[in-house]
Amino acid sequence: MGIRLRVLLTLTVVIAVLGGVLYGLGAYFVTQLLEQREQLEVASTLDRAEEALAFSGRQLSRSAQDWGSWDDTYDFVSGDNPEYISRNLEGESLAALGVDFIVFLDASGSIHYVAALDSQGNPAPDIPRGLRDHLELGAGHGAIPSNGVSGVLEIPEGHLIVAQRPILRSDGSGSAVGSILMGYFIRDAELENLASLTGERLALHSLDDTAVASARGEFSAGASSVLEPTSTSTIRGYRTVRDIHGEPALVVMIEQSRPTTSLVRSSSRLTVLFALLSVLVITLTVSLVVDRLVLRRVSQINSGVSSVAVTGEPSRRLEVDGSDELGSLAKSINEMLDTLHSSEQEVRYLADHDALTGLSNRRGFELALRRTLAEARRTGSSTAIVWLDLDNFKDMNDSYGHASGDELLQQVAKMLVSASREYATLGRIGGDEFAIVLPQADVVQAVGAAERLLSVMRDNTFTVMGHQVRVAASVGVAMYPDHAETAADLLVRADLAMYQSKAAGGGAVRVYTAGSQSRLTERMAWSERLAAALNEDRLILHEQPIAQIDDGPDTLFELLVRMVDEDGAVIYPNDFIPAAEYMGFIGTLDRWVLGRAIELIRAETDAGHSTCYSVNISASSMSDPQLVTMVRAKLQETGADASRLVLEITETAAVSDIAAARRFIDELRGLGCRFAIDDFGSGMASFYYLKHLSVDFLKIDGELIKGLTSDTNDRYFVKAILEMCRGLAMATVAEHVEDENLYDIVRGIGFDYAQGYYLGRPGPRDESRR
Ligand code: C2E
Ligand code: CA
Ligand code: CA
Repeated sequence: MGIRLRVLLTLTVVIAVLGGVLYGLGAYFVTQLLEQREQLEVASTLDRAEEALAFSGRQLSRSAQDWGSWDDTYDFVSGDNPEYISRNLEGESLAALGVDFIVFLDASGSIHYVAALDSQGNPAPDIPRGLRDHLELGAGHGAIPSNGVSGVLEIPEGHLIVAQRPILRSDGSGSAVGSILMGYFIRDAELENLASLTGERLALHSLDDTAVASARGEFSAGASSVLEPTSTSTIRGYRTVRDIHGEPALVVMIEQSRPTTSLVRSSSRLTVLFALLSVLVITLTVSLVVDRLVLRRVSQINSGVSSVAVTGEPSRRLEVDGSDELGSLAKSINEMLDTLHSSEQEVRYLADHDALTGLSNRRGFELALRRTLAEARRTGSSTAIVWLDLDNFKDMNDSYGHASGDELLQQVAKMLVSASREYATLGRIGGDEFAIVLPQADVVQAVGAAERLLSVMRDNTFTVMGHQVRVAASVGVAMYPDHAETAADLLVRADLAMYQSKAAGGGAVRVYTAGSQSRLTERMAWSERLAAALNEDRLILHEQPIAQIDDGPDTLFELLVRMVDEDGAVIYPNDFIPAAEYMGFIGTLDRWVLGRAIELIRAETDAGHSTCYSVNISASSMSDPQLVTMVRAKLQETGADASRLVLEITETAAVSDIAAARRFIDELRGLGCRFAIDDFGSGMASFYYLKHLSVDFLKIDGELIKGLTSDTNDRYFVKAILEMCRGLAMATVAEHVEDENLYDIVRGIGFDYAQGYYLGRPGPRDESRR
């Protein structure tokens, strides 16, 4: 259930319950109040009825007093006035007095004379039987009330109002001779009279009458009035009235209407309806206000946010209304969405762009290439990919730092953009690799464009952090559809062609040819195996003595690397060194060997030997600044004697970049290391350069040494070299001395050292040689 529905439901229930309770309480108090008022009214009516009865009695009492304080009456009861009756109580006199009977009682309380009317108002022979019984048999009769009494009296024939007075002389002298009792039946007319006085329906009942049965219990418990609602519109009141003897004799019963109560009752349905309506109106109003102010806006915000969540489109915005908390919430959410949106766009941009140069990255480039290829497929035209890899970028990075490497890349990118403006897509697809798609170009146009780019690059001098830098690149070209059909394959072909160009010395454009593939994949496989062997510690070093001719035990050994295959087979360096050099992995390998060599020197020294180790260094390692740093650190760390480390550089490597070789040699010589020129005489020996390189050993190539046995020219040649070395204070080493005969020749010519199977095959470290 949504919060909106829940709040509205809760509001409705709370308001309904509150309304109901308030209404109930109100109704309860109002009824209580009405009932109290009603009861007061009934009680006062009863008071009035009682008072009316007493009043009738008092009025009758006055007549009785008139008659009782009259000498004629006195005399009549005394027996002296026989005409009294005929004179005073003839004919209409009872009716005129308004009484039904007059009883004269003598002093003993016995009936002296009675005059009575029947119920029709005609003279009756006697008073009602019940009255006679009462006067003759009843308790307390006969006594002459000294002051007279009046009130009601109940006899079986009905209810009477009676008054009894003593009969005295008119002047009040003497004692009472008897008493006179007057009375009348309370008939309907009398009751109506009473009712008109009290204004209510009124009836008199005997105490034992069934009509008052319901009140009898309370009367006998001592109550004088009892109230009893008979219906919603009437209420009854009962009051006991004492007779002239002070005994409870009758009950006055009134029935009173309850106009307000019945009005309240009858209108209560209307009130309930009204209350319900009010609750409804209040609920609706409150709900509407809460809904408009809060709930609807909350659910608007909710649906807005969830629609963003569902569609994942942070470009959508919530509607903001009002400046209150909800308004500012919506605004904040929008601001959050703005941030999200822009960072999403940034991420999208970065997904196919290179942050450094702003060019397409590999992904973006491939997407564009695919689009171009689809177009080419449709139109049947060709497309070229030009893959460009900066030469020696790594050196630049290593020697000037990454920041300058980045700067150079940015400048190269800028140059490429301006030089290839007319081309659709240019991307940076690797560290120092760029690629260009040339739509609708054939191979001649592609090579032409690539060469133009190269020449622009060559002519450009880049200024990176104050350094003037010239940059060349190796470029590979692959063609759609001649070389491959898909974007991925085309990129691989262009990359292969670039590698070929790089392997051939760089700085040139190569078009992909099918043959280059297998050689390359083989080399890639080798370099992967080598990397794995290095990681898994499967590289070992064999040592081969470089024996000092005519001298004691060997102290100089050449370290030769071997790779142990996963199945234990030993693989020789001729198999993997060319691949490692080609794939740029050789630097890592050389540093590893150097590190091991320094550790070995330390270990030999510790074992009391003065062993020196000679280590082979590849051409490219000469411009590896990491190598020097590493050697220095390692020497420091182990405390090994640097002069016991000899680094072998091949003649070809030294001569191909004499400046780099000199720098390299000088730097390490500064640390105390020694140097050897390896394989001297295998290439186009250039004696001239030797004087520029300060090396300690010259190792003459095995082929040349072998020639000494047969070829006399070689002998002259070698002799000349030895002569020169003596002049430059270089020790000479004869390589590949395989037998005693050759050893003798070598010794005869005057070599300082000999190395070869005759003197010792390369093998694991052997303590006995020391
Ligand atoms: P290299 O520097 O000319 O090393 C001498 C090679 O000649 C070794 O081959 C060795 O086994 C072999 N040899 C020694 N005595 C004789 C002999 O009497 N007759 C013949 N025929 N050969 C002999 P290996 O160990 O196969 O090394 C081949 C080449 O691999 C080395 O030529 C060297 O250029 C390179 N290499 C070896 N170890 C390393 C290394 O740690 N780093 C680098 N960069 N290159 C290495
Ligand atoms: Ca060597
Ligand atoms: Ca050699």
